[in-house]
Order: sequence, then C-alpha cells, then structure tokens
Amino acid sequence: MTEPTNDEAHGESHDEAHDGSLGSRLNWLRAAVLGANDGIVSTAGLVVGVAGATDDRSALLTAGLAGLLAGSMSMAAGEYVSVSTQRDSEKAALALEKRELKEQPEAELEELTELLQDRGLTREVAMEAAAQLTERDALRAHARVELNIDPDDLTNPWHAAWASFLSFTVGALLPLLAIVLPPADWRLGVTVVSSLAALVLTGWSSARLGAADTRPAMLRNVAGGALAMGVTYAAGALLGAAGV
Ligand SMILES: [Zn+2]
Repeated sequence: MTEPTNDEAHGESHDEAHDGSLGSRLNWLRAAVLGANDGIVSTAGLVVGVAGATDDRSALLTAGLAGLLAGSMSMAAGEYVSVSTQRDSEKAALALEKRELKEQPEAELEELTELLQDRGLTREVAMEAAAQLTERDALRAHARVELNIDPDDLTNPWHAAWASFLSFTVGALLPLLAIVLPPADWRLGVTVVSSLAALVLTGWSSARLGAADTRPAMLRNVAGGALAMGVTYAAGALLGAAGV
C-alpha cells in the first residue's frame, strides 16, 4: 500500500495505468475519512453545546439535524467549487500545452527531454525516452511529466461534491443518533464517548492511508474533538444557566 506513494514521488514513471488509479483511489478514501471526521467533530460539538443548555430532546434533534444538513451541503458546495476551479485550470493548461505542441514541436521535445534529465536520466536516455513518449502520445506525456496531470482522469466536481456530502453525513449521523436515542441521563456520556472513539478510528485511518504515524494522528484528532465538545458544552451551559 505504500508503493503508489513511492511511485508518485518518482514521477509516476513506470506503470502509469496502475499507480494513477490506485493513487487516486487512496486520495478518495482519504477525503472520505476526513469528511466523516468533520461530520463527527462539528455535529458532536453542536449537539453537546445544545445539551449544555437544554434537556429538550426535540431541540437536540433539531439542532443535530440542521447541523448535519448545513454541514454536508456546505462541504459539498465547497468541494464542487474547488474541484471545478481546479478542473478548469487543468483544462486550460492542457489546451495551452496542445497548442504549444502543435506550434513548436521541436522546443517541446527539448523541454520534455530536459524534464526527464531533471528526473535523473542521462541526456542520451532522456532524448530516446522523450522521442518515444512524443511519438506515442505527446500531449499525455507532457501532461504527466510537465503538468503532473492525468488527462484521462480529471476529477469530476459532481463526484467530489457527492462524496463530501455522503462522508460528512455518515460522520454526523453518529453524534446525532447518540444524543437523541439514549435516555436523558446517558445522552451526553454516550455522545462524548462514541464520538471520541470514532475520532480514534478516523485519525487512525487517515494516518494509515497517508502512510503516516498513527499514534500522534489519533491523539491530535481526539484532542481536537474533545476541545470542540468542551468549548461548546461550556458555552451551552453558560447560556443555559443564564436562562438566555
Ligand atoms: Zn510541454
């Protein structure tokens, strides 16, 4: 599972079909875990804050559900906008590259050769490689080596938006259910404990998927969630005590 990262660092030189798709699948998975993480932290913070102020179950349900919907839609919209922008600039870069290849193929061949040299090939091998790549699919070669784009695999903004929406919703459902389902005396404890446990899991997964150390990632993640719940609970309790 660490190999694709390795390949990427070396410029995706050998097995392009493989590391491209595996790499992007890992990125998707990682984005999904982070989306779920957001859903847990923000919804847990929200419902715990409201629970600090009131025992009213329908108020908790309303707050939790509104938080889930607002959060998932805001994540989806944000993702849609950012992926669309990225896709537009990738398309523009590809169009420019296409024009350059048409208008100045010699200069482009030399450019590709130098880029391959920069990656550690000797002049002779780089010239040979650049010539072969150009013959096979010049635009694709420039896209990958020069722009670091896979022209066949531009991210679809709708897919990205849906993925964010769903992953946030899955994460947000946990604290929402935890605050409304258990009996009144238990709801706060159940919500805090289950949310922190889920944050251990998401922290672990995102570290694993990024091939990073899992322990500090879990600790940071749990600390962040605990802080969020602590702060909102204190704010809710103050407001509740003040009778606002
Ligand atoms: Zn070029």
